[in-house]
Amino acid sequence: MDSPHRPQLFFRNPFAVASQEKASTTEIPVPLLDVNRGNSAIRDEVIAAITKVVDSGRFLHGPEVGELECTVAGVSQTKHAISCASGSDALLLALMAMEIGPGDEVILPSFTFFATASCVSRLGAKIVFVDIDPKTYNISPEAIRDAITTRTKAIIPVHLFGQCAAMDEICAIADSHQIPIIEDAAQAIGAAYQGRHAGAWGAVGCFSFYPTKNLGGMGDGGMLTCQDDAMAAKLRLYASHGMQPRYHHRVIGINSRLDTIQAAVLNVKMNRLNDYTHTRQANAARYDAWFAEAGLNKQFELPKTTPGAFHVWNQYGIRVPEGRRDALKAHLQDRKIGAEIYYPIPLHMQDCYRSLGYAQGCLPETERASAEILHLPIYPELTIDEQRTVVSTIQSFYATAAYRRVA
Ligand SMILES: *Cc1c(COP(=O)(O)O)cnc(C)c1O
Repeated sequence: MDSPHRPQLFFRNPFAVASQEKASTTEIPVPLLDVNRGNSAIRDEVIAAITKVVDSGRFLHGPEVGELECTVAGVSQTKHAISCASGSDALLLALMAMEIGPGDEVILPSFTFFATASCVSRLGAKIVFVDIDPKTYNISPEAIRDAITTRTKAIIPVHLFGQCAAMDEICAIADSHQIPIIEDAAQAIGAAYQGRHAGAWGAVGCFSFYPTKNLGGMGDGGMLTCQDDAMAAKLRLYASHGMQPRYHHRVIGINSRLDTIQAAVLNVKMNRLNDYTHTRQANAARYDAWFAEAGLNKQFELPKTTPGAFHVWNQYGIRVPEGRRDALKAHLQDRKIGAEIYYPIPLHMQDCYRSLGYAQGCLPETERASAEILHLPIYPELTIDEQRTVVSTIQSFYATAAYRRVA
């Protein structure tokens, strides 16, 4: 609903910009994400589902866990889905099941969340960071081809921000060298490319139910997907102390389980995943249209969707030419509009990976993306009125001194 103080013709009316500036202190804040809105809409159903688990006493291995595994396998079009404690554990378990360790190399992007890389280090294998495609921010297939050696034991493409990496090309390259792919699909549940779903391309797919993800739990949770029976058995084995049968340990695994209570919550949300996805897509399309209508697509680049991609929009990131991004972020935050940078420091530039020897400038597209990207609110419960406020506040930045000072 439109509030009366926000003029309809705002985008084309320069006087409205000025009045908006003056009125900014009375504007409603727009959070980058508000998990309470989504959760309050399903509160009674969630509490009933949790109560059922409490009364059953089956806090681990309850039927809700198996139910969630079945639906995730369905959503991902895979034969198997194996639950675990987090997306980070899913990545670690995938590498453990592939018996990756010292002397092995794993190729992955530097422009991602830390967990994509730390699992490799934890097992004593060598990280090989490669650059991204500047249009999608996803790992570059050409860069993968150039980085493959005889020691390469896995490739981890990340479906960043909810859009699948170029999996057709990546799979062709990996197949020709018989290197398995682990998909980091933490941000991409329900996404697809060329009709094939995230988690169904590689040997193993890794999902996260961290509260900010598209299927967010009320705590931590993760899931592994795969097609192969032997791989599924191995993943389950490693996730349960390598124990089979009871008190017989065949390999050295870890303890990584999804709580029944968490699965019960996720089952309630899973029923609405399609709605959440469609609303995120509608929000992204509305930003695209409104930014273009206001001519702002000439000031910064809108996110690009690859033809054939079913983008699920975990994040909506604009690319603001360097120098202006931080000023725009400050302008938004001063006016209580949520804006964040994912990710401000590429992994190859992190202190803990200094010993790997990556110099500044060696992954130029990754470094440029880190300097220019800015993410805006996109979550399903964002109102049209709030979205209009985000757009008009960005418009006011480009219409005022805040922009001219740094331009
Ligand atoms: C969230 C995330 C993870 C880790 O998932 P957790 O459940 O938080 O451990 C891994 N990779 C990417 C790309 C993520 O966004």
